[in-house]
Amino acid sequence: MSETSNHIFDRFGRKHDYLRISLTERCNLRCFYCMPEEGVQLRDKAEFMTPDELLSIAKTFVDLGVKKIRLTGGEPLIKKDAELIIRELGKLPVELSITTNAVIVDRFIDVFKEAGIKAVNVSLDSLEEDSFNAISRRNYFKEIKDNIQLLLENDFKVKINVVVIRDVNDHEINDFVRWSKTENVHIRFIEFMPFDGNSWKSEKTISFKEILDQVNSEFGVNGYAKLQGEPNDTSRNFELKNGAGTFGIISSITNPFCDSCNRIRLTADGKIKNCLFSEDESDLLSLYRNGEDIEPIIRKVFMLKQKERGGLAAFSNEDVAGHKNRNMTSIGG
Ligand code: SAM
Ligand code: SF4
Repeated sequence: MSETSNHIFDRFGRKHDYLRISLTERCNLRCFYCMPEEGVQLRDKAEFMTPDELLSIAKTFVDLGVKKIRLTGGEPLIKKDAELIIRELGKLPVELSITTNAVIVDRFIDVFKEAGIKAVNVSLDSLEEDSFNAISRRNYFKEIKDNIQLLLENDFKVKINVVVIRDVNDHEINDFVRWSKTENVHIRFIEFMPFDGNSWKSEKTISFKEILDQVNSEFGVNGYAKLQGEPNDTSRNFELKNGAGTFGIISSITNPFCDSCNRIRLTADGKIKNCLFSEDESDLLSLYRNGEDIEPIIRKVFMLKQKERGGLAAFSNEDVAGHKNRNMTSIGG
């Protein structure tokens, strides 16, 4: 069998070779758009993948052509066995990366290096301490800023994820863009997305166009250049003239990138989702624990993948209200 025929395809010919694994649903922050204030409901430890189960399931995906694995959560670094899992995944023939809030990144610099991690995505929704602490309902702004600096000093490629929400942090768009002029950071503005319990309303989403309009108002249309994208890029990226870093926009709401989607999501409790917005998920962990071959169910799940947005008709308030999904922290963003 050729390598290509072994890959995970869907009905629309999309090849899925990028696995995002959530290490935990729990988090040391409480970003209001992601997590309920009281945190997630505690569940029995036995409901979650052990490190051995996670590694074995990840290997099956690698055998099916996965080339890239990203660890996420919840906050992946607060998982008890995070170090072991990162080191073991680092031995697989994949590009390994992580998305983190960076609160405790300083404890992992050597682990990241030894596992071959080259790029780290850090979430930071405001450059103003009070505002960031209000959004995240915790007080770790200084630790996060210091840890971003530490990552840069250690030559990691650092992307900064900024969820832009109307009347919350939309006045800071150009502050972030200016940061990318002087520092080698790659800012990624993310349109605010709907998940269960996050009080999303379409009016709160700041669109791709609005973000660029703001950039134009300070830097002018000739003040920056569009960068050439990679085939599965989710962001459209730009660079200020003589910028040290870049900025980009992930417009899942106003311009979904479903056509080139290559993502597989594995939740901390061992379910796979074929789309961030899908209502359905399949219990891989139970099958695995029963000693069953998980490959056929993986293929079946992807054959059922919807063309766009997990079957959500549109991102209108009405359509979203009638759609079921987990919250972001339990899916793995
Ligand atoms: N705790 C880690 C972090 O914050 O980077 C990893 C998990 S977090 C769920 C992954 C990403 O999802 C973060 O960049 C976060 O900003 C983003 N995210 C969470 N909820 C979102 C929402 N409702 N809309 C858009 N992005 C969201
Ligand atoms: Fe935690 Fe990340 Fe969600 Fe914020 S976005 S609550 S840091 S999982």
